[in-house]
Amino acid sequence: MSRRPPRRSVLRGLAAAGTAVIGFDPFTRSWAVTPSDRPLHGIPELDGTLHTDEAALSAAADDFGHIVHRRPAAVLRPGSVADVVAMVRFCHRRGIPVAPRGQGHATNGQAQVAGGLVVETTPLAAIQPLGPGSSSVRVGAGAKWSDVAKATLVHGLTPPVFTDYLELSVGGTLSVGGLGGQTHRHGAQVDNVLELEVVTGAGELLRCSPDRHRDLFLAVLAGLGQCAVVVGATVRLVRAPETVRHYLLPYDDLRTFVEDQRLLVRDRRFSYVEGQIVPDAAGAFRGYVIEAVAYGPPAGDVPDDAVLLRGLRHDPSGAEITDIPYYDFLDRLAPAVAALKEAGLWAYAHPWLNLLLPGRKAADVAGRLLDALTPGDVGPGGVVLLYPLVRERLRTPLLRMPDDPVPYLFAVLRSTPPDDTAAVRRLLAANRSAYDLVRAAGGTRYPVGSVPFDQADWRRHFGSAWPRLAAARKTYDPRGILVPGQGIF
Ligand SMILES: Cc1cc2nc3c(=O)[nH]c(=O)nc-3n(C[C@H](O)[C@H](O)[C@H](O)COP(=O)(O)OP(=O)(O)OC[C@H]3O[C@@H](n4cnc5c(N)ncnc54)[C@H](O)[C@@H]3O)c2cc1C
Repeated sequence: MSRRPPRRSVLRGLAAAGTAVIGFDPFTRSWAVTPSDRPLHGIPELDGTLHTDEAALSAAADDFGHIVHRRPAAVLRPGSVADVVAMVRFCHRRGIPVAPRGQGHATNGQAQVAGGLVVETTPLAAIQPLGPGSSSVRVGAGAKWSDVAKATLVHGLTPPVFTDYLELSVGGTLSVGGLGGQTHRHGAQVDNVLELEVVTGAGELLRCSPDRHRDLFLAVLAGLGQCAVVVGATVRLVRAPETVRHYLLPYDDLRTFVEDQRLLVRDRRFSYVEGQIVPDAAGAFRGYVIEAVAYGPPAGDVPDDAVLLRGLRHDPSGAEITDIPYYDFLDRLAPAVAALKEAGLWAYAHPWLNLLLPGRKAADVAGRLLDALTPGDVGPGGVVLLYPLVRERLRTPLLRMPDDPVPYLFAVLRSTPPDDTAAVRRLLAANRSAYDLVRAAGGTRYPVGSVPFDQADWRRHFGSAWPRLAAARKTYDPRGILVPGQGIF
């Protein structure tokens, strides 16, 4: 018996549900709404659904940035990995551009595709049950990190590295890198992947790992979707703590703050180290707060404040120390995000700036950028981050890092009303100037934000990794259909 219903009944079902069904006209090279009883020019049978309705197309033409809007011709909600294979193959044959979309939290149209196909990965969110003694978990690319954390914590296990916000898809963060406060200990999320299941730009379903199709594996991790659509990943797990001790340590001097952060990651005293910069009463960004977290048993020892804070030069009278459950720590942004949504600020434009500074110049370069920054440039609900990473833990070639043992992530997570296009343009130009300054100092960018970039910039950005990325693109996406929104090829 056939696993799938006959194509005509699927299409009739879609039409009956009010979903437009599309066909691709190879002569005009365009998609068209097609009555369900007319030939469909070879649209494959699907377990899931293909959408061309206004709601689906306009949602896929937007993202968390709310700056770029490119309208696709259709949106695939796959019912299976086979659907992704079938539709990518279909698009490959006809040269139709394709972009996977996880949670749509890119800020500059990276998951958008004008006139092409958006593949929503949300339905591919299965998390394989863990067995006794598991040290890894297989997850669908559409799973959110919050779901992965909940599923593994039941077994006392956890992925080693999390982004600050958990409602991002596994495929979305593995395509960029995935940095967080645990990165100084464990590298980025991409450094903790054992195997990937991908659909190449030619529509081939492959498993890749350090030992199998290694070139593909290395081209997909932090590869900005240029060679394949990730449909599943096997992620390393470590023991999870039950509770953590969370420290906020205030500083009034940038250099001291940066030096103490460096000391903490060198000594590996904490499991997590980040830092924020806040404006003072006069609006100058001169308040510095280290956020550090010590994991309790069974992942770590019972935290000892005297040992952990030894030699630090923060203002002890302003320190805040709290013990909280591990998941509450991971999900610490949830209340703030709910408040931003409630206030309508989640729908603001987000021309984010995310840079990686060489550690030896971090205080100088960050100081110059902060001197020029006003609260208006950051906007309501915006945040400024500065925290250290450890280069030797970051082993993924396409996650470009400054040549420095302790690079610093510097981020200005801006928010501004989306209809003030002049302000958005000004902030994008400011992002470019900041990038140029950082690049001249030996830094690079973390490509999740909104920095105007052309193909020559990308070539420079990837540097020595460019030839291998370009070769993998030729091999695995020979018609160059994948993820044009990044503007790389
Ligand atoms: C509130 C917030 C907090 C954040 N915090 C952090 C943080 O702490 N650390 C950090 O590193 N990043 C952080 N980010 C950035 C975030 O990691 C990236 O923007 C990530 O790509 C978003 O995931 P997504 O599922 O929304 O991806 P999308 O926006 O849907 O896609 C992003 C890019 O990845 C591609 N892509 C998506 N899915 C796949 C797939 N399955 N296979 C191949 N390519 C794919 C898309 O085509 C697109 O080019 C944050 C973003 C937001 C909005």
